[in-house]
Amino acid sequence: MKHRQKTTKTKAATAKVLTLPDLYDMYDECNFRFFGGTLPCPQLDFMHKKDPVGSFTCDYYNDVILSACIMISDRYKYTDAQLRTLMTHEMIHYFLYYNNVNPTWSHGKEFRTIAKYMNVVYGLNIDKYTDTSNMEMIQKESFFSRLFSKRKA
Ligand SMILES: [Zn+2]
Repeated sequence: MKHRQKTTKTKAATAKVLTLPDLYDMYDECNFRFFGGTLPCPQLDFMHKKDPVGSFTCDYYNDVILSACIMISDRYKYTDAQLRTLMTHEMIHYFLYYNNVNPTWSHGKEFRTIAKYMNVVYGLNIDKYTDTSNMEMIQKESFFSRLFSKRKA
C-alpha cells in the first residue's frame, strides 16, 4: 500500500467541479473584496475548451458597456484559490473597460499594474496566462469509454 501524506491541521485545498452558482458566488466575493463592489454583475457562464481557461468579452459603444460576459472553462476542477485568481484576472479586464481605460493591449501596462497590486496585497497569483499544469483536468466521457469502464467493473 502506498504511503499517505501526513494529515496536517490545515485543511487541504480540494479542487472541485464547479456549478454556475459557484461562479456567481466567487464573482460576488471578488467584487466585494477586490473591487469595492463597484462592478455590476455580468453574464457568467462556462465554456468547454481547455485553453484559454477564462475569457472576458463585452459589447462596447460610446464608452458604455452594453453587455459583458465572463466565461470559465469547465474542463478543470478548481480550488477556491485557483478560481479566485482566475475570476479576478477576468474582472480586471472588465474593470478597465468599465472605467473607460480602453487598454490597447489586453495584458498591457494597466492590466499588469492592477494584477501586481492584487497579487501583493491579496496574495493572488494573477498572470497573463493561467498556468494549468497543476490543475486537475476533467476527462470527457464518451459513450464508448463509459461502456468499456462498465465492462471492466
Ligand atoms: Zn486576460
